[in-house]
Formats: sequence, C-alpha cells, structure tokens
Amino acid sequence: MARFRRSLAWHIARRPGGLVALAIQYGHLRTAVSAGYASRSRDGIHELLDLETARATADTLTALHQDLAAGTGISGPAARRAIQAAAQAPAFAGSIRTPRQARDILDNPALAVYDNPNSLLMCVYNRDRALCHRADTVDSPSLHRCQPSCANIARTDHHAQQLRQRAAVLERQADFEAVPGPLAERLYRSSARLRSQADAHNRDRVTGCENAS
Ligand code: SF4
Repeated sequence: MARFRRSLAWHIARRPGGLVALAIQYGHLRTAVSAGYASRSRDGIHELLDLETARATADTLTALHQDLAAGTGISGPAARRAIQAAAQAPAFAGSIRTPRQARDILDNPALAVYDNPNSLLMCVYNRDRALCHRADTVDSPSLHRCQPSCANIARTDHHAQQLRQRAAVLERQADFEAVPGPLAERLYRSSARLRSQADAHNRDRVTGCENAS
C-alpha cells in the first residue's frame, strides 16, 4: 500500500497533459483529492503529494537552469523572474526528502514556476498578475484556463519549437480535402496564432547570461 501511495502521488504530481493532472499538480484539486483519499486512509497522502509536487517544481527549475546555462533563449513578460527562479535550483535540486523541505519550496512564491505543456509555455506564477482566475484568491494558477496575454508567461526556445511543430500539424489537418471549409479556416487561424507566438519569441528572446549582465 505504501508503494502504491507513493506511485499515485508521483503520477498526480507529474503526469503531463491531462487537465485533472495539471490542476492537481498546481494545487486546485490537490487539496480536494488528497483530503478525500485521506479520509479513507490512516495517514493520508497529503505529505506525499507535497513531496512529489515540490520535486516536480524542482525538476522544472533544474531543467530550466541547465537549458539557460547551455544558451537556450527565453522570452515573455515573466522571463526575468523565470531566470531568477532557475538560478536557485542548484540549492535544492535532489535534496527534497522531508515534508518540511517540500513545504519550504511550495510556500516560496519566487519558486512558483510551472511547466504548462498544453499551452506550450511556463507559468511564473504571481497571483496579482494572473489572468486565469481574476476573481479567485487561490495560490496556484488555473493552467487549463491559461490566457495568452498574461504577464506570468515565459517561453524558452523549446516551447517556440513546439509551437511551430503544433502549427505544422494543424496546417496538415486543414489541408485534408475532407475537412469542411470553416473548420479548415479555423485550423489555419490557430496555426497562424501559434506561428506568431513562436516569431515573437524569436524576436524577444534573451539568454540567461544576457539577462544577468
Ligand atoms: S493565465 Fe497566467 S497565471 Fe494563469 S496559468 Fe496562464 S500564465 Fe499562469
């Protein structure tokens, strides 16, 4: 049972793509799910979820730190904050072993950087600037409602490359003869939007070294 709970927490915290997993990873459902699960379990999985969520955050920051050190570019209104957060990664990467250490990471707003594979960006979360839940007072982003004009967005060269790949897929879908005209137009529009985001990244990108100097 202990191994199952650890495995469940790992998957909840890290499995990319699904809205539920994303929401849980970044807090909204984490409390609800863990509370429900805990009521059927003697000591619950709150601490395991905190540990795995903190480790997932550390992994995101460590990967960003390594990318920036290798010269990867970054853009977006939150690029500078992302660079600053990534610079802290070596201090805790691989060393999150206790719930207390996990809470220290999760409670530090300067480290609130979340990969958002659905929107092909990183959310460098600042509640006061968040556009995904203006009326709420939650401490985590609603990644499934991410808004393209949010001031918490940062993108790396990898995201820009993925934007172009996704745009190409949409264009191929639109090119199918069987696709009705209005749908094809919608696909072309979406593709153009993604390409324009990738172009904006190429225009505005800086490297970690440039930004630090
Ligand atoms: S809208 Fe802003 S705060 Fe919300 S998920 Fe997107 S980048 Fe993060």
